[in-house]
Amino acid sequence: MQTIEQYNFSGKKAFVRVDFNVPLDENFKITDDTRIRAALPTLKKILSDGGSVIIGSHLGRPKGVSDKYSLKHILGHVSNLLGVNTDFADDCASDEAARKAASLKPGEALLLENLRFYAEEEGKPRGLSEDASEEEKSAAKKAVKSSQKEFTKKLASYADAYVNDAFGTAHRAHASTALIAEYFEEKDKMFGFLMEKEVNAVEKIMNDIARPFTAIMGGSKVSSKIDIIENLLGKVDNLIITGGMTYTFSKAQGGKIGNSICEDDKQDLALELIQRAKDKGVNLILAVDAKIADKFDNDANTAFSPAGEIPDGWEGLDIGPETEKLYADVIKQSKTILWNGPTGVFEFENFSHGSLAVAEAIAAATKNGAYSLIGGGDSVACINKFGLSESVSYVSTGGGALLEAIEGKILPGIAAIRK
Ligand code: AMP
Repeated sequence: MQTIEQYNFSGKKAFVRVDFNVPLDENFKITDDTRIRAALPTLKKILSDGGSVIIGSHLGRPKGVSDKYSLKHILGHVSNLLGVNTDFADDCASDEAARKAASLKPGEALLLENLRFYAEEEGKPRGLSEDASEEEKSAAKKAVKSSQKEFTKKLASYADAYVNDAFGTAHRAHASTALIAEYFEEKDKMFGFLMEKEVNAVEKIMNDIARPFTAIMGGSKVSSKIDIIENLLGKVDNLIITGGMTYTFSKAQGGKIGNSICEDDKQDLALELIQRAKDKGVNLILAVDAKIADKFDNDANTAFSPAGEIPDGWEGLDIGPETEKLYADVIKQSKTILWNGPTGVFEFENFSHGSLAVAEAIAAATKNGAYSLIGGGDSVACINKFGLSESVSYVSTGGGALLEAIEGKILPGIAAIRK
């Protein structure tokens, strides 16, 4: 497989798919440019080799062309960070874009307008009325799939090489994230540096495991984490199930949970998972105590209660001190650690202590030689909030993509390059 490190871009044009889906405020100012910065090593390597870059990205979920989702809002910042004057093509698949790409000189950059302004990027029909018949839906799907080929070919025609550095969309089989790879020879397509790091992190967690392996799965709902939990049961030694999910498990086992969050229809599933963990010899760890509140509010009255004995009118919003110690002991003895999802409502200062205890235990284990991967939305927010992102092995940038990889799915963006 080709690698970006080895590839010499001198005199070549590279189409680089990045994830510049950054948050913007109401004045279109970028409020967090982490994703742009994350792609800089790849873009700068190409430019400093004497190559030129055609940068493609999506922004938000537009339903067509829309000023709100235009990448022109970020052009100035991209130019500044890259340190080169970056041109802009206000229609990513136009003859004008092709002309601009063709006239790029070594060391120059072109940013394409939001790829998702075209339905062909995602390959999903748009504008179908709610009451469209099955035939109409299927005809529209066929039409967009067929024009998707032309769109993909057009994007590919701009460049000599294809680089995918957008792990955040690697779980999508879109034109620019996967299909485009077909139009490049094996030697001319590769992962960018960020993508390479993400792929290696997943590889370490899924296939190159130092034991004991502990996964900490938090968050609010069993239903959204079930596929991951099932896949992990075949891999981990210790599985900590925490956060809001705790109370579905607790109630299923006959515990009293007061007003705590609970998915009643997932109680059987919770019991099944407990049994399956037993069968597989996995040490399934649930909270033994909770920090409870008399309302869902940072300033609620609080108390600690044993798990499964939460009084009526109260709800568990975080783990208690005994559970913190229980989790920390297991985490500190681990050699591979995966953390997804907080232990409680970490957005409320008064219910973030459990998540902090987990983050600190992971940092201590990492210092001791463990490999730790933090990923999936909220645990990334947690580790950043606690200022511990430098104290773990890797913080993934890809929420949904990472979760699908941990579910054991093959990600189209990875498969397209790693044939
Ligand atoms: P998820 O998106 O499924 O990973 O869930 C993350 C969310 O779960 C965060 O916003 C937390 O505030 C929330 N959460 C964690 N623990 C609890 C809890 N005990 N009660 C209610 N929400 C919770």
